[in-house]
Amino acid sequence: MAVDLEGRSIRFALSNFVGDIRYRWEEDFEPGQPLQVDKLRMGVSRVLRDLDEDQCSRLIAVGVSYPGLLDPEGRLTAFNLGWQHFPFLAQLHEELHLPVFAEHDKHSCVLAERWLGCAQDYRHGLFVIVERGIGVGVFLDGKPVDGWRGMVGELGHCLIDPDADDLCGCGRRGCLESIASSVNIVRQYRERAGMAGSDELRVTDVFERARRGDEAAKAVLDRAGKALGRALSYAIQFLNPEIIIFGGDIIAGEDVLLPIVKEEIIRCTLPEVLSGVKITVSSLGLDIRLRGAVSMAFRTSLQDADLLEKMCAPVLTGQRPSMPRQSDRGAGTAAELLLAAPHTDHN
Ligand SMILES: [Zn+2]
Repeated sequence: MAVDLEGRSIRFALSNFVGDIRYRWEEDFEPGQPLQVDKLRMGVSRVLRDLDEDQCSRLIAVGVSYPGLLDPEGRLTAFNLGWQHFPFLAQLHEELHLPVFAEHDKHSCVLAERWLGCAQDYRHGLFVIVERGIGVGVFLDGKPVDGWRGMVGELGHCLIDPDADDLCGCGRRGCLESIASSVNIVRQYRERAGMAGSDELRVTDVFERARRGDEAAKAVLDRAGKALGRALSYAIQFLNPEIIIFGGDIIAGEDVLLPIVKEEIIRCTLPEVLSGVKITVSSLGLDIRLRGAVSMAFRTSLQDADLLEKMCAPVLTGQRPSMPRQSDRGAGTAAELLLAAPHTDHN
């Protein structure tokens, strides 16, 4: 099972070993409030609703993609969710009685891109997420990089404009995030356009207004794009990636925000370092973190003798419902399934 704490909701899904995502379910929750166990219970029961007892017994593990910081006791601190030392993993384990493995969302995206996305043939790269916050998943020599405290890629809190008044969630002013994250693009647009705070406005609306020639929208995107491009030029010169993949809300602004980012990257980066670097957007969509969580849970399970044995237990042929597609093919083992072609099912 894969679980994605994406910020506004918790997404649950089942997957087999080739990344086919099935039975998605999404539960909204109130950021800043303790999570009600009912939400977890509901999410888990919804994705398992069509499985019989035998199929449930073949669940191997749970992979969780999380934002923020996880302490050694498995408690999550995520400013965007309003959680401080929240025992999310323990709650999940209690509901499912399965091993729970967690990976930071930056790494989940990297793992998914390496496994099924556009980074399959690249060994050194950056995955840049622009959403409520800005983070960068880094992989070098084919592996995600952690850093001492797992805080590699906190690009959002680089001080990009020391004279700026823009207040960041970390309490400082002038961080990249305070200028170029989705919520701060919206905030700046409101301020420039003199909009009331109560009016509904999303970052996609700002992109759309820029397309229609709205000067305030264009000015905000120009500032955000240049700030992001400049910050990324430092990362590129420092890490020498061969691919840069953009994900999150910025994908919707591929035509109005990304060109400004690219132009600033080109202006600020040594041509020798930038030459040949592929710059692209993720094509894995909303399932990216779910797939990354599956990849991580699968890899981790392979290193556990008991879980490996469970994975390799024969899957009997039978007249079961359609969820585990392997059962339709007759007898097989998890290892054999690894050789099967990926398949996407949008149910
Ligand atoms: Zn900050």
